[in-house]
Amino acid sequence: MHIELHARFANEPTALRARDLTSACVHCGFCLETCPTYLDGRDERDSPRGRIYLIKSLLEEGSAGAETRTHLDRCLTCRSCETTCPSGMQYAQLLDIGRALIEVEAPRATAGRIARRLLRFGFAKPSLLRAGLVAARLVRPLLPAALRRKIPAGQRAGKLPGTAHARRMLVLEGCVQRAATPLTNAAAKRVLDRLGITLVGVAQATCCGALDHHLAAEDAGRERIRRNIDAWWPHVEAGAEAIVASASGCGAHIAQYGELMAADPGYADKAATISSMHRDLARVLAAEDLEALSPRTDVGRIAVHTPCTLQHGLGEQGLLRDILSRAGFSLAATQDEHLCCGSAGSYSILQPRISGRLRERALANLASDAPDLIVTANIGCQLHLQSPDIPVKHWIELFDAV
Ligand code: SF4
Ligand code: SF4
Repeated sequence: MHIELHARFANEPTALRARDLTSACVHCGFCLETCPTYLDGRDERDSPRGRIYLIKSLLEEGSAGAETRTHLDRCLTCRSCETTCPSGMQYAQLLDIGRALIEVEAPRATAGRIARRLLRFGFAKPSLLRAGLVAARLVRPLLPAALRRKIPAGQRAGKLPGTAHARRMLVLEGCVQRAATPLTNAAAKRVLDRLGITLVGVAQATCCGALDHHLAAEDAGRERIRRNIDAWWPHVEAGAEAIVASASGCGAHIAQYGELMAADPGYADKAATISSMHRDLARVLAAEDLEALSPRTDVGRIAVHTPCTLQHGLGEQGLLRDILSRAGFSLAATQDEHLCCGSAGSYSILQPRISGRLRERALANLASDAPDLIVTANIGCQLHLQSPDIPVKHWIELFDAV
């Protein structure tokens, strides 16, 4: 696809980058049938190709309105289209540019701007979230069912290992996960301890910055990246082996630090190093002797939900199923695994109707073989998929139980 940039954008580096990215698209339309928002409403403007056309027209005409913003907002950034595209289109990068441009070209109403700011502020602060969750649990019985199921039950993290091993990896403690499911990283620390690896959380490294990034607050997102790099760097120099994320959404973002900070001379090299050191928790386990862990496998049949950030973002499509089968768990069949469950960070709050429909579809696909349990690898999906019918856990909890 060729773009003739409007004179306004002729010397704009991001517009030039968008033009280059768009040139990969050959209009074939293969991506439409694997795009959850296109399948939801069959509107081409809610498809990858349609959104590429909308961004192209913004760059060629020099302006765009609220309608373009609506269709860009409806994208989940699930990157299923990237997995499908035979032409190697880097769609998410183009979408980031389109979203940043549309914030300027078609500014949101005050209420929309405030809501986004509150989300960015509230979700990135574990202490605030923790207090909010305590309050929400108290009034839970009074809430409507749709809200009630979004409030996770309280968890006990359990005792942390005390041994310091020669092998050390850093773990991102995160923001939402730290507050809502503290068991996940505690379980990861215990499991890796049994493998002779100490997982070190660095208090100053908090939110990965993905939420800011996906809400087009690029500067705030980069500031978080700088803070995390500064927090991790002394440990990297002291020999940490890897930077581990147990939430694949955070991991997929850390893997992009190098690309996101490429234009920052003070951080470009360090960011590239950090990205190269990122390892999803499942990838860490995959390289180890899983027999040594001997987890309890009599937990029934398990439906595996592979988050988009793991399968499309990090390209690890079969990884969870592989390690769980290697460890002896019994897996249930699932359908249409490539389709997003509708969580997508703040999407479930900002686009509740589409998100709700995608959730129902994902749950039906996960339940198709009557599993006893669903496991996933990302906090957002874990909370979003909660239902009274089938429990949903982070997969590392399975290896924690012996
Ligand atoms: S599959 Fe790739 S090349 Fe084909 S329309 Fe979609 S983005 Fe363009
Ligand atoms: S990122 Fe997901 S929702 Fe967005 S266009 Fe691609 S497939 Fe569709």
